[in-house]
Amino acid sequence: MPEAHALHPGTIDLHAHSRASDGVLSPSDLVRLAAESGVRVLAVTDHDTTAGLAEATEAGQRWGTVIIPGVEFSCRWERMSLHIVGLGMQISHPGLCNHLAETDALRRARAEHIARKLAQCGIADALAETQKLAGHDRITRTHFARYLVAAGHTRDLVQAFKRYLGTGKPASVGSHWHTLDTTIDVIRAAGGLAVLAHPARYRLTRTRLDALLRAFRTAGGAAIEISTSSSTSDERTRLTRLCLQHGLAASAGSDFHDPQQQWIRFGSLPSLSPSLIPIWCHPSWPGTRTAQTAIP
Ligand code: AMP
Ligand code: MN
Ligand code: MN
Ligand code: MN
Repeated sequence: MPEAHALHPGTIDLHAHSRASDGVLSPSDLVRLAAESGVRVLAVTDHDTTAGLAEATEAGQRWGTVIIPGVEFSCRWERMSLHIVGLGMQISHPGLCNHLAETDALRRARAEHIARKLAQCGIADALAETQKLAGHDRITRTHFARYLVAAGHTRDLVQAFKRYLGTGKPASVGSHWHTLDTTIDVIRAAGGLAVLAHPARYRLTRTRLDALLRAFRTAGGAAIEISTSSSTSDERTRLTRLCLQHGLAASAGSDFHDPQQQWIRFGSLPSLSPSLIPIWCHPSWPGTRTAQTAIP
């Protein structure tokens, strides 16, 4: 593991997706691209799955990048859907495996429900076609969106969310994910650290964001993502203040999915304010724990 104090966003990236969920690259190609872009520590954080971690860890050894085992958990807080990135968990931990199996079942039921709603919009067979494109059945809305583009129903992913899949749109389905508290308990029981993903993306008022950060901290959350690909400097300033107020550490993650999304590139995350404690300097930082015991 490189010396923690020598790392900075750009050489460390703690949020990225492979084909095991809704990324487009295989775990090995993802790690290779990150390594070639100067990333020396990479957390592979697929949605609600550890399926890509064994391959990613092996590739990390080949390309000289340390792989932190991660999962981006879908959860709910006060009827809202949120994403929590768990880092450094023991991925064979029974509590974690049970939790992911339950989430998998919720995701399957949700995908069937989305497909039924798309059928009501005149788009038949969306689930089977989407699964064919994905190559697995851990279907996210990104996969549905890619199918809608491929089949000519929408121009691009943004339009697929605007017309069909986004909150309140005709094929949107309310989520029944596990709660924020349960999710953080599972992450910690498996030896990991919990990071609130992309806090600015939930479009919360200052009061609601404050309440969320209080709940997150009380539940045992460790850090919030401040350095992200899409963040503005104003957003980072605002989040830096909140992060310090709530006594949380700071994380950096690109949320990389696809090399064609040119605005999200490995190795180019903005730096963190020196007033913040980076999560990789946290006393419980996982170091070099490996993912040899990955459960597919
Ligand atoms: P799901 O876990 O099935 O709700 O899918 C969530 C994923 O959809 C996110 O991780 C993003 O990758 C993608 N996503 C959500 N909203 C949008 C959007 N407006 N445009 C493009 N992708 C989106
Ligand atoms: Mn995604
Ligand atoms: Mn997310
Ligand atoms: Mn993500």
